[in-house]
Amino acid sequence: MPIWETTMLEVSNLGVRYGRHVALDGVSARVSKGEICVILGANGAGKSSFLGAVAGLVGTEPGTSIVMNGKDVTKLDAHLMVEEGVALVPEGRGIFGELTVAENLRLGSHARRAKADAGKMLDFVYGLFPRLAERPRQLAQTMSGGEQQMVAIGRALMSKPDILMLDEPSLGLSPLLSKELFKSLAIIAGEGFGILLVEQNARLSFKTADRGYLIETGRIVGEDTAPNLLNDAKVMSAYLGAVAH
Ligand code: ATP
Repeated sequence: MPIWETTMLEVSNLGVRYGRHVALDGVSARVSKGEICVILGANGAGKSSFLGAVAGLVGTEPGTSIVMNGKDVTKLDAHLMVEEGVALVPEGRGIFGELTVAENLRLGSHARRAKADAGKMLDFVYGLFPRLAERPRQLAQTMSGGEQQMVAIGRALMSKPDILMLDEPSLGLSPLLSKELFKSLAIIAGEGFGILLVEQNARLSFKTADRGYLIETGRIVGEDTAPNLLNDAKVMSAYLGAVAH
């Protein structure tokens, strides 16, 4: 049995509103162990709202169900979601520029679930991103965009998540750096972490992902394996960024 048949995160009928504006309506998605799952959609489709809702940062509508490792976590706040194994790398990375690389990473290991394995996780992060291992004392704000993305992913991994969520991680990176980033994501998934990312870059994300969802104005309009989506000319021409790399 492939490891990704073990569902870890199951989102059903997710609804998010901002006042009268319905940002997400009846959205369902799941992520399994070792699986890379991508949610693809244009600007404003609701991608960040989806990740924010799962991370416990954005309130959800009645009827929403979010289950993590078999436990109902629909109403948990963000710090408790971290303890349930959900880590978010937000858009814009959210690292602390005036702290060093090592200090940023240490912040991630404050989660209770992470403390005992902090050393092991740090070795994993430094092995994954040798550039960080070479510069633990460098201030994060003096790192390049690609390196800052490594710090952000490293910090999220330090909380020892089951599911790593990333909000448009390739935004602002060169095509080459984006490719390297996706290679790292494949290595992370290979270690058994589930990965859920939202992206506008269809080609690159489908090349790496196992499965994809298409989201338009707050609703899921398609779902398939990533190879099928990659070979679907209609899908590829419909999504911004499909021809960019
Ligand atoms: P982008 O790629 O531009 O970040 P997105 O797919 O992540 O877009 P969201 O940021 O989730 O989309 O936004 C979905 C919709 O909800 C948009 O119409 C947006 O304007 C609206 N929205 C998001 N956050 C808020 C908020 N705090 N208050 C009001 N409306 C919001």
